Amino acid sequence: MIIDSHVHLVTHAMAKAAIKRMDKLSNGAFSKMSQSGPGIMNREFVDFLKKTDIPEFARLWVEELDKNKVDRALFLPISGGGHDELDEFVRLHPDRFSAYMMPDDPSKKKVVKELEQRAKSGRFLGIKLYPCVSGISVADKRAYPLYEAAGALNIPILIHFGITMAPMADYRLTNPMDLMLPSRMFPRTNFIIAHFGAGFFREVLLLGFHAKNIYVDTSGTNNWRLFLPQVMELSAIFKRAIEVYGAERILFGTDTILNGATGYREFVLTEQQKAQEELGLEQDARNLIMGGNAARLFGL
Ligand SMILES: [Zn+2]
Repeated sequence: MIIDSHVHLVTHAMAKAAIKRMDKLSNGAFSKMSQSGPGIMNREFVDFLKKTDIPEFARLWVEELDKNKVDRALFLPISGGGHDELDEFVRLHPDRFSAYMMPDDPSKKKVVKELEQRAKSGRFLGIKLYPCVSGISVADKRAYPLYEAAGALNIPILIHFGITMAPMADYRLTNPMDLMLPSRMFPRTNFIIAHFGAGFFREVLLLGFHAKNIYVDTSGTNNWRLFLPQVMELSAIFKRAIEVYGAERILFGTDTILNGATGYREFVLTEQQKAQEELGLEQDARNLIMGGNAARLFGL
């Protein structure tokens, strides 16, 4: 069984809402920057989004999952405005798709209410936080009620730390060390660090010293490795992550976004399987990483 615990659904409405939000956060600087620079969204992508509605996205995704023998995928929106669309999408294939909620501001009281309501549907199984974009540190006490509610509902919280493609990211909020306090204050709440910490690999390993409720996802190209003082092979990253966290706390992901030009990130799936093979990892451990852990953690 393969479960991809980290993919994205980006629709036209979500992209528009995200641009509006970036402009609000940056006093309009985002649009100006996009016009003068290379732009975060190219024309082909926008054209693809415009002509692809939710049923078409669902059809494309099932096709891609089938092609790659992936049983289920967990989808992240790109901004909090996309929850209804994401729900509509998951409803079409609840046996293949699940969703994460992504609150724009985790410190708001209404987020807890929304979580309780969305969790009831059984389609939203996780929360995604993006501190460097929301501007709220995960250590901010105002987000504690959300951590408490997530723990009570058994909803894991996935967090993006480290380097990011996201424009307007405040890199002062990218260090996973911010998670130490909340992870200890809320031992019933499970936290997942995306992309092995996207550059903060050392910090991710240090966090493993204490926290039994922290997991790591393998998603993406992991090209953050190219920006470290010493480039590590992907197999070495898997090796150290397994040594510190154990295979039972590592979740497979590809970070796929369908954009009309490229399909499911098969190369990421293959590369990660190869890395595990190179380590001589036992089949049981590989099964956990590729899907068993996600099934257990998300109650699938
Ligand atoms: Zn992602």
